[in-house]
Amino acid sequence: MKVKVGLVKCNTYDSEELDKALEKAMRLSGGIDVKGKSLLLKPNILQDTDPAKAISTHPEFVRSVIKFMKKEGAAEIHVGDSPGSHKPDFSGRKSGIRQVTEETGANWIDFTKGSTIIRTETGKRTKKFTVTSIIEKVDMVISLPKMKTHQFMLYTGAVKNLFGLIPGYTKSTYHIAYLTRNNFGEMLLDLLEAVKPAYSIMDAVIGMEGPGPGNGYPRPVKLILASPNAVALDTIASTIIGYDPKLIPTNYFALKRNLGLKLFSDISVEGLSVNDVKIDDFKLIKSRNSLSIIFDYLHLRVFERLQQKRKPKPYFIEEKCIKCGECIKICASNANWFEEGPNGKFVAVDYNKCIRCYCCHEVCPVDAIEIRK
Ligand code: SF4
Ligand code: SF4
Repeated sequence: MKVKVGLVKCNTYDSEELDKALEKAMRLSGGIDVKGKSLLLKPNILQDTDPAKAISTHPEFVRSVIKFMKKEGAAEIHVGDSPGSHKPDFSGRKSGIRQVTEETGANWIDFTKGSTIIRTETGKRTKKFTVTSIIEKVDMVISLPKMKTHQFMLYTGAVKNLFGLIPGYTKSTYHIAYLTRNNFGEMLLDLLEAVKPAYSIMDAVIGMEGPGPGNGYPRPVKLILASPNAVALDTIASTIIGYDPKLIPTNYFALKRNLGLKLFSDISVEGLSVNDVKIDDFKLIKSRNSLSIIFDYLHLRVFERLQQKRKPKPYFIEEKCIKCGECIKICASNANWFEEGPNGKFVAVDYNKCIRCYCCHEVCPVDAIEIRK
């Protein structure tokens, strides 16, 4: 049977237009029975910051989803996320999502306030994950990703968004354990199997292009996508912005693992046609060279290390740096530190230790880190 993806036009975050478009995307993709159920809505709040930057799922999009789920009879709605640089004062207020939970009667959840272990017997890289404990109390998880490019994974959407269920800096340990894009992608699919999200609904009204996921540029895409299958949604979304969907490891390995899809042709797009909304000039992250791909498939640690050295490096731009230290806190391999220079403190980096995870780039609040050869 075909897996449905609802693909619907939505020009703005105006509530009337959003509500109608969301309802249509849900209906076209098959819908969800949430009557009497307890839900966890998982937006992408990579940085708790101004929604105009398009780093996080837009608060009005989250509001529209909450309204829809209530109308469909959901008993309880929880909303939360945990950025990689989850600070004690992370509140979700700058993103506007916390206020939306208060105004709609949903519960805001701080993912660092309790954790639990979830398992998947079919995991290829790992069979267990430490995630927020709210997951034990809800009937369904619904992923609410933002359509964005991603320096490390090329693209981030419904599957990658689940990584935020792992509280705060615990995420860094997964970067150390799964160094290459393919290994990391396989681990994300293990997480997908452990979480089993009931639905994914993507905010592609304004996406992010260029050096995402934290420092790219807002790009109006004017779409909403919805699907019960996160991989199907990601396949269509990554195609729309111009990727060959097989280049995105979570798409490619999901087919090999038969995660609800055997072939991309098993996806039925309902509503708009992909060809009609495809964007030719979306600024993408450059893909790997063929040697990197061979190294990736060999899964050998020694090759992985060699491959790290060939990848673009993070460069710390002293003039832009506000010395917040976030890049140092998040670096799982202790590859960077503050050093005293003639103009005061600056971020030094040991490229032999750097695993090119680009977490520092993701969390830098002022775009003071460039990724280049
Ligand atoms: S310096 Fe940046 S890219 Fe390198 S390992 Fe640390 S966080 Fe990752
Ligand atoms: S490079 Fe960015 S994250 Fe690192 S200390 Fe400077 S401003 Fe903060």
